[in-house]
Amino acid sequence: MNHLITSTHIITSTQTIEDGWLLVHDDKIITIGRGEPPELHAVQVVDAQGLTLMPGFVDLHVHGAMNYEAMDASVDGLRQMAKFYAQHGVTSFLPTTWTDTRGRIHAAMTAAKSAMSEIWNGAKILGVHMEGPYLNVDYTGAQNPDYVRHADHDEMKALFELDVIRLLALATEFEENHWLIRECAQRGITVSSAHSSATYEDIQHAVELGLSQATHTYNAMTGLHHRNPGTVGAVLTMPEIRAELIADNIHVHPVAMKVLWQCKGKDGMILISDAIRAAGMPDGDYPIDDRVINVKNGVVRLPDGTLAGSILTMDVALRNFMAATGESLEKIWQTSSLNAACAIGESHQRGSIEVNKSADLILVDENINVYLTMVEGRIVYERLNEYAPAK
Ligand SMILES: [Zn+2]
Repeated sequence: MNHLITSTHIITSTQTIEDGWLLVHDDKIITIGRGEPPELHAVQVVDAQGLTLMPGFVDLHVHGAMNYEAMDASVDGLRQMAKFYAQHGVTSFLPTTWTDTRGRIHAAMTAAKSAMSEIWNGAKILGVHMEGPYLNVDYTGAQNPDYVRHADHDEMKALFELDVIRLLALATEFEENHWLIRECAQRGITVSSAHSSATYEDIQHAVELGLSQATHTYNAMTGLHHRNPGTVGAVLTMPEIRAELIADNIHVHPVAMKVLWQCKGKDGMILISDAIRAAGMPDGDYPIDDRVINVKNGVVRLPDGTLAGSILTMDVALRNFMAATGESLEKIWQTSSLNAACAIGESHQRGSIEVNKSADLILVDENINVYLTMVEGRIVYERLNEYAPAK
């Protein structure tokens, strides 16, 4: 199927085109133009009514939604998650595992792998993000401390055989985890510093081994002290590290978000949701492995009060981040798509609006409300009839 999207502001990789049009053939963007669109046969025309066309969101760190989670190891659960994310503008994502038994992590990855080849009405799975279990037990946040361990050769051998991990998050301060940073770097798997007591020097060393990302910056890491710059000091100052951020205004204060933006710039940050199974669901109690979390007024906590993931969606994350920084969408769009694609080596095929790239596109209004989501040239979500442009 071919699609011609007309009457739209297009945020391309190099410029914003006012009153533009864009032609999709099968799964690819093939022409981007300005002004009067061409007269074509056998195309489905999408009148964007002045909405903005931008790259679909790429969420590298997301555990669940709609009462499902990656750790359920259910292909149907992943399908429901993918559908929900697409309604919020996500076109591709990494289902994210967490600290658990070897068997349950393996099962979750096996399910994600079989889901990758499916064509469905939702965001595409690009692989898996393995968050934990090789963390620091003192910085677990909502990760279950009972299953925290050091990097295990046997376990990783079996998981590498699945060939599905794109991103692996671990604590870098342990010597026992260092071989895995090197091994991942060799295999083209991105490594992120997570749930860790790492000092500035630990991070420096880990970067030499291949570390290139920081998991939910500010959360579950050592803070910036003027005599002890910590992981936050390393993230803010080291260009080798891309910084994930949960921009929900709960995990991080808007001013701290702005500090991160000013230090890392438009290429250095990745918005993530870190959403758990309660995303898209009403307030209440939900299971997390063998424990219970409570969701109240958008805040997710363990019984002891610890923040336990979010119910954030990527559209809201971008909206919050624009408000926190005071920047325009034209300046900031990369933080929700291209930077994530770059981080996992996907930017040659997706993450920005360019000819020959995958047609992973969304139509949004100025408040980042999503009206259409296209994944690899297929419209998987659409509610353009609900859009009423100001006359
Ligand atoms: Zn997480």
